[in-house]
Amino acid sequence: MIDFDKIMDKAKVYASAASKKTGEVVEVSKLKLKEIQANSELRDAYADLGAIVYDMKKSGAVNEDLIDTCIEGIDEIRAKLDDVSDRYHAVKKTVRCDFCGAQNKAGSLFCNQCGANLAVEEARKEDEAGLEKPAALPEQHTEE
Ligand SMILES: [Zn+2]
Repeated sequence: MIDFDKIMDKAKVYASAASKKTGEVVEVSKLKLKEIQANSELRDAYADLGAIVYDMKKSGAVNEDLIDTCIEGIDEIRAKLDDVSDRYHAVKKTVRCDFCGAQNKAGSLFCNQCGANLAVEEARKEDEAGLEKPAALPEQHTEE
């Protein structure tokens, strides 16, 4: 006899794992794009600062405040770039195979060592983690 409930549960696990993987891929490409944009902003800011300093020296009218403002702007872009870079590497973290312990690239569906299905394994672990959440204790009414 076929256990339809079991098959449906498995299908749900596959579906949730698949959607999670897609989300990760989107996040990685978004972060990569942000990193590229921040890098280009930083290059422009350095170029602006260089041009401003050049013009000031040439004209002999050095405006320190303007230079400080440019440097503050550069620091902001650099902080943003660090943040994006940290998040990028956090999202791109590797996935460890539970069966053989091999490290696989995040988003891998199967282990490159033993061929275990990483997506299903990960979804199963999440389900278990969800079940382990402590249930709220019933309120204790003490008789007085
Ligand atoms: Zn493995």
